[in-house]
Amino acid sequence: MSYKVAVLPGDGIGPEVMDSALEVLARVEEKFGFKLELTKALIGGSAYDETGSPLPDATKKVCEEADAVLLGSIGGPKWDGLPPELTPELGGLLALRKMLKLYANLRPAVIYEELKAMSPLSEKVLSEKVDLLTVRELAHGIYFGEPKELTDDMGLDTMVYTKEQVQRIAKQGFEAAQRRGKKLCSVDKANVLSSSKLWRKVVTEMAADYPDVELSHMYVDNAAMQLMLNPLQFDVIVTSNLFGDILSDESAAICGSLGMLPSASLGEKISLFEPSGGSAPDIAGKGIANPIAQILSLAMMLEISFDLKDAASAIRNAVDGCVKSGIRTGDITDPGMTPVSTKEMTEAIISRI
Ligand code: NAD
Repeated sequence: MSYKVAVLPGDGIGPEVMDSALEVLARVEEKFGFKLELTKALIGGSAYDETGSPLPDATKKVCEEADAVLLGSIGGPKWDGLPPELTPELGGLLALRKMLKLYANLRPAVIYEELKAMSPLSEKVLSEKVDLLTVRELAHGIYFGEPKELTDDMGLDTMVYTKEQVQRIAKQGFEAAQRRGKKLCSVDKANVLSSSKLWRKVVTEMAADYPDVELSHMYVDNAAMQLMLNPLQFDVIVTSNLFGDILSDESAAICGSLGMLPSASLGEKISLFEPSGGSAPDIAGKGIANPIAQILSLAMMLEISFDLKDAASAIRNAVDGCVKSGIRTGDITDPGMTPVSTKEMTEAIISRI
């Protein structure tokens, strides 16, 4: 069976790191004997420049007909002054996310032993490799709940979760824990919020269906502290939209460089895979961006959308191998080390697959 992938390189470093990911893809296709059908399309500022829209109809069509979307990054100062609906962020990426009805955001955060010095956490806290995954509910909760109102002297938001909505995201949390270290921490504020009380009840009920997963619960204020004090205790965190927004950024921050962090957003039919960072206009066009976040986003796509676990593991092992061998782009070099280019990092990863 042939799978279709919409490839959207986007702006800034997007096209540079996307080229790297596609070279890595070609290598795993050759090694593991499969072939994806790739269709490139425009998104973001580059799409606006060429067509007048940050999400042209042709791109929508390519994405709708695909089995998965691999995105680079969008945005840059050149397009900051546009009306909101034409900006790469709102008119491009957010519109695409909405179109795909994405409901779960998976963000791994890894601190490699060799890159401990990049983390703002002390070495005392990082006695082993940190490897945690935040599963954030993306389609409901306080960002979307009604009523929502703003007057001159009152602002109102509503946090609502239904049993079905909690079940859908908790299922992703349990399944991710089954694929990984078999520990799931559900984060809520059940001591205060009704929506969290329901959340905790539903997640607890579901645990019986996943006897191989050890479930724990944590209040969000404590979880924010524990990520700093002892991130090693976490395997998978599952949480609501608002709490996940904050905790996934916090977990990214403790890793040191955005250039290492991939992400996946699951949709009802089509899922989207992209680096956690942005288009890095400060280094775009210089050939020095770290391609690892894009390459690991590809690995997530192969595993989650197409069940190509061996190819995904081969990519992750090759990245681990490079980090262990001291091959570093500028964002992860120690003083005194010579950084490699995007191309050299890509070649080093490919040679290890
Ligand atoms: P950014 O993530 O682009 O950059 C923040 C810092 O991280 C910069 O110093 C950058 O050089 C570095 N960085 C990021 N990715 C890197 C990589 N792969 N290799 C090496 N260094 C890397 O965030 P920003 O500067 O706040 O935003 C720049 C633009 O990106 C803005 O237009 C913003 O709207 C957009 N943006 C897009 C996305 C997305 O496409 N999903 C996400 C965030 C920001």
